[in-house]
Amino acid sequence: ATPTAIMVGTGLGAKRGVLFKNAMALETSARIQVVVMDKTGTLTRGEPEVTDVVVDDTLTDEEFLRLVAAVERESEHPLAEAIVRHAGASGVAPARAGRFENVPGHGAVAEVDGHKVVVGNRRLLEREGVALGAMAGRRQELAEGGRTAVMVAVDGRAAGVLGVADAARETSAAAVKALHELGVEVVMLTGDNTATAERIAGQLGIDTVIAEVLPRDKASKVAELQAGGRKVAMVGDGVNDAPALAQADLGIAIGAGTDVAIETADVVLMRSDPLDVPTALRIGRGTLRKMR
Ligand code: ADP
Ligand code: MG
Repeated sequence: ATPTAIMVGTGLGAKRGVLFKNAMALETSARIQVVVMDKTGTLTRGEPEVTDVVVDDTLTDEEFLRLVAAVERESEHPLAEAIVRHAGASGVAPARAGRFENVPGHGAVAEVDGHKVVVGNRRLLEREGVALGAMAGRRQELAEGGRTAVMVAVDGRAAGVLGVADAARETSAAAVKALHELGVEVVMLTGDNTATAERIAGQLGIDTVIAEVLPRDKASKVAELQAGGRKVAMVGDGVNDAPALAQADLGIAIGAGTDVAIETADVVLMRSDPLDVPTALRIGRGTLRKMR
């Protein structure tokens, strides 16, 4: 790599808010064959909002939100924040939670007003031995509409489900299209459930979806995609994404993401615009051409 080509490439990137941390990052960008994209906060805005509240007839909506918000107030997940905000906007003051337990990639459990309250995905309720009953169908409907279904059990009974929507970033579909035009395969990687992920992937033109991946397994999914020496880039924003960003041949962080993601990545997209992913690869290819 000639120093001049590297300087030109780095400068071009900087103008577009694409920060290549070193010469190696620029060169690797030219060779990427697969781009893996985290869903929440990368392809979507990461600003989830509660759209649906379904409660069985044992609780009023208010009692239900009071219990759920009590658990989620102790959680740090973006979904938890959305639920606490929704409860607040509905004029519901959360109860106090005790014996709080966070279950990474699944949800949380706590004791509220003497009741055991479980809030999270289907797998968490199953793990707790809760039968989904009538809530199974409601969950499926929400997922097929691209919503994330947050299931709630009270004392071992599936009491309700909340639908949470996280809008796609405006340029996500265009970014996928541009990557395909560069001959690059695009994969969505997410901890969210399969039906929800597939719905959103379909809207964005992404054909490969790897869903229901636990935070600790994201990096090994990237490693599997690297089999046969394929060059893989990972784009992410979260603390959860850092090991996968490190595992990838090229880690790309969303500028609005967490510090850990930004520190781990080789490239940072200052504008948090998915369209800057194909831009980064194009700058890399241009740089490599000049070096030959
Ligand atoms: P993502 O990759 O979507 O950011 P995570 O790996 O953090 O997801 O979590 C995976 C899934 O676990 C979420 O989509 C959600 O269904 C569930 N979950 C995790 N934490 C919570 C929580 N505090 N409240 C409700 N659901 C949760
Ligand atoms: Mg994310």
